[in-house]
Amino acid sequence: MKCYQCAKMGKDTDAIGICIVCGMGLCKDHLRREEIPVWDGDYPVRLKPDVEHILRIVCEPCHEALMENL
Ligand SMILES: [Zn+2]
Ligand SMILES: [Zn+2]
Repeated sequence: MKCYQCAKMGKDTDAIGICIVCGMGLCKDHLRREEIPVWDGDYPVRLKPDVEHILRIVCEPCHEALMENL
């Protein structure tokens, strides 16, 4: 899988993780690993079994959205 953020800028970078919220692939420059706030419960976050073995990260857009909702 390729980094979605890099792809938008015309670069071709291998993703090392997947955003747990929207599922986009992310390289080390674009992932965010800060503490993720506890979900309210109404946000449609679901962890699929096939992503359990990869890093639990969020992408920049999702991270910003989560921080705005604190
Ligand atoms: Zn990237
Ligand atoms: Zn995301």
